[in-house]
Amino acid sequence: MTYSVGMTGNALQAIRNETIRAGSLETGGGLFGNEQRNRFTVLEATGPGTHYDASGVHFTPNTEVLHRQIDDAERRGLVYLGEWHRHPGTLTVPSDGDMRTFAHMLDQMPIHNLLMGIATRIGSEVNFHAYVVQRDGCTALGFFRV
Ligand SMILES: [Zn+2]
Repeated sequence: MTYSVGMTGNALQAIRNETIRAGSLETGGGLFGNEQRNRFTVLEATGPGTHYDASGVHFTPNTEVLHRQIDDAERRGLVYLGEWHRHPGTLTVPSDGDMRTFAHMLDQMPIHNLLMGIATRIGSEVNFHAYVVQRDGCTALGFFRV
C-alpha cells in the first residue's frame, strides 16, 4: 500500500511556532485530521501543553494533556493520526526508542498505522519529516520545509 501525507499551513505553522518556542529542548504534540484511502491529511498539530518531560535529547508527552487534546479533536470531527516531536540537530529519522514507543502505541490501539512527525531546526529553518509506522515497520512519506 502506498501512503501519502498532506499538511495544512496551519498545522505546519503550529509545529514551527512550538519548535522555535522550545529553543534547544525537544518538544512535540499530536497530529489530527483525516485519513482516506491511505492519504493522511493533517489539519491540526498541537503542542505539549504543560508538565511534560523534555531535555535536549528526549521528549515524553504528558499523556493527560494528549488525551484531552484527542477528546477535543474528536468532538470536532477530527481523527487522531499520530504524534510529532522535535529532534536535536539534523537527526531526521526515528530513533530506536521512537520505534519502540510507536510499536507499543499500536499494540494499545485498535488502529493499523500511526503518523510520526519529526521536526528539526537549524537557525530559523524548521523542517518536518513525516513517517507512517505500522506493526511491520516504518515508511518515509516525505518532508516539508516549514
Ligand atoms: Zn525521536
